[in-house]
Amino acid sequence: MSGSQKIAIVSVYDKTGLLDLAKGLAQQNVRILASGGTARMIRESGFPVEDVSAITKAPEMLAGRVKTLHPAVHAGILARDLESDEKDLADQNINKVDYVICNLYPFKDTVAKVNVSIPEAVEEIDIGGVTLIRAAAKNHKRVTILSDPTDYAGFLKELEQGEITETSRNRYALKAFEHTADYDAAISDFFRKEYAGAGDQFMALRYGANPHQKPAAAFTASGKLPFKVLCGSPGYINLLDSLNAWPLVKELKEALGMPAAASFKHVSPAGAAIGLPLTAEERKVYFVSDIEGIETSPLAQAYARARGADRMSSFGDIIALSDIVDVPTASIISKEVSDGVIAPGYEEAALEILKKKKGGKYLVLQMDADYKPAPAETRTVYGVSLQQHRNDVEISPKSFGTIITPKDAGALPESAARDLTVATITLKYTQSNSVCYAYNGQVIGLGAGQQSRIHCTRLAGDKADNWWMRFHERVLGIKWKKGTKRPDKSNAIDLLVSGQLPKDGAERDAFEAVFDEVPPAFTAAEREAWMKQLKNVCVSSDAFFPFIDNVFRAVKSGVKYIAAPSGSQNDGAVFETAEKLGMTFVQQNVRLFHH
Ligand code: 5GP
Repeated sequence: MSGSQKIAIVSVYDKTGLLDLAKGLAQQNVRILASGGTARMIRESGFPVEDVSAITKAPEMLAGRVKTLHPAVHAGILARDLESDEKDLADQNINKVDYVICNLYPFKDTVAKVNVSIPEAVEEIDIGGVTLIRAAAKNHKRVTILSDPTDYAGFLKELEQGEITETSRNRYALKAFEHTADYDAAISDFFRKEYAGAGDQFMALRYGANPHQKPAAAFTASGKLPFKVLCGSPGYINLLDSLNAWPLVKELKEALGMPAAASFKHVSPAGAAIGLPLTAEERKVYFVSDIEGIETSPLAQAYARARGADRMSSFGDIIALSDIVDVPTASIISKEVSDGVIAPGYEEAALEILKKKKGGKYLVLQMDADYKPAPAETRTVYGVSLQQHRNDVEISPKSFGTIITPKDAGALPESAARDLTVATITLKYTQSNSVCYAYNGQVIGLGAGQQSRIHCTRLAGDKADNWWMRFHERVLGIKWKKGTKRPDKSNAIDLLVSGQLPKDGAERDAFEAVFDEVPPAFTAAEREAWMKQLKNVCVSSDAFFPFIDNVFRAVKSGVKYIAAPSGSQNDGAVFETAEKLGMTFVQQNVRLFHH
């Protein structure tokens, strides 16, 4: 054999384009060595080909499990243009391989079949092919690896002109590594479903965001899932909510040193709070006057606040709690319409209460409080993978140390730094654009997922207004018809406080049906007078305020402290307006878009 004759090893499952390739290689006087089925096809078409066994001097064995796995093949591929490598080859009488053409057994197609057995899948795990591809790709400085039949034509064109360029070899190597990585991912995916302990690393979900989106699953690429299912079975959106709500309460607790709670719907919080003591009025407004032991449970108080902020939005929520769930907290949950809860643990009696909810189907997740997610986050959208460093910026009262206006403001009161912390950590886990009003350790109005900032500021402001109107004596004194359900009360209160009372017809009848005494609508003057009593509210924004309209809207809901990143062309005007309206503008350096 002439030392200068190039050698190609060909071993392909997908034989598309194989004969054109063989023809092109033969025309360029390349020696073709091929595995069983590949060699047969080339030979039958009349092109020159030898079996790989011509160089291995060993037959294919174990029914094809061992075909190309041999030092004569792999040393020939892996050898570099080094004197020592040349000597090793010469000692063993091995020739260098220049081109490897290989694609793999169709593992994905096999395991996609219904009821495929483990032995069937195992037989489709390509060993020799992966080894050929990886070896050739590793040595791409010298060797060309073709793992995709669509590359044959371009390869042959270059070959006709003499050499395969470095750029092409690099590109083919990258493709080869992606091919084996994708192949290995399919194999581990299959075995994760088969072998990982139930729920340990892989969890089949009923469906994705919608019932027709099947199959659906949650899993980790390595290591265990960071939560255990103690009751119920999570859905896809339940997990999106839980895995956003958990870090929110964890960070709130770390930042403020108190138990924290969040109430999530559709991957944004409806409320979030720390466990400050509740007044009797607050207990009434939040429907928790009858909860025994609530006054000694900061966690229960935190959830009462989180759920109470916007009761309409919290209907059917996923709850996150920073601490071990106690009986008072479970008692509040047991009375509300809710989909599930995630917490680091549960007192036995509390778990018993929760397990009785929803006919035993209430979702209870136990989160590993020590879990630290990987710094890189990857998701796929429309077939494209997007990767970013996780938003692990820390927010705490210290984040609000710099006041922009007024210049002579002095330090921020502790309560304002606390409430800005609550608002800003909440924004970190709210779909953008977002603006959050907070007061007394809790969210009171949150605008999420709006394309325009002013719409966020208005939406959140209107929610804050509704929240405050619920403390008006007219609302506190409502005489409900006996047997009126909690959600119906919340809906009726929302109509009353938002000023959207139906005037007549069936809608009016439905509104009146829940009262013993129908409360009159608020007049504009009554509303204005009551709103004036709301003071010292904090507002935070996930990005800069582009126009001064946001500041004008915020002040109407009692805002005194306002924090947002800077960077708008209008920064100067925004700061000035805030100052004119008697507000304190606090620097918040980090943009917090969340999607
Ligand atoms: P053929 O049709 O040529 O008999 O087989 C081609 C397939 O065998 C290719 O998909 C290639 O990845 C695979 N292959 C190559 N060498 C080996 C080996 O040593 N063991 C196994 N199990 N498969 C191999």
